[in-house]
Amino acid sequence: MLQERGVDVGSMAELVLDLQRPYNPSLDLPACEKALTSVLAKREVQYAVITGITIDRMAEAESLEEPLGSIVRENNRLFAIDEVLALAIVNIYGTIGLSNYGYLGEVKPGCLARIGDRPGRVDTFLDDLIAAIVAATCAKIAHNA
Ligand code: MG
Repeated sequence: MLQERGVDVGSMAELVLDLQRPYNPSLDLPACEKALTSVLAKREVQYAVITGITIDRMAEAESLEEPLGSIVRENNRLFAIDEVLALAIVNIYGTIGLSNYGYLGEVKPGCLARIGDRPGRVDTFLDDLIAAIVAATCAKIAHNA
């Protein structure tokens, strides 16, 4: 589903590497890809991804009931349910994941910069899901280091 929505999983691993390298100089891309794959294999993560992407897709296709369809298309900052859903992913790995998640949501580095800026696309939930998966992967690596 992530790939269908134009997310390059490889670029998520690169972002993990950029974020974690300062704390872990021996870290390499294959290790980040492996950690990312294990985060994506978790059932809680998959449920959050399926829920968020389905809502984005339905809002985009105008098949989501109103007023929710308009609210999701508008992507108002005060909506924040997108951020709350993605916390289900972050919470698996505790507080380290939470601070990374906050940073990623504000700064939108790397692959996150391209999401949410695509004409005709609704990525209200997608951006937070990606930030959460990257943050959770960083936390997993930090815990294992
Ligand atoms: Mg969002």
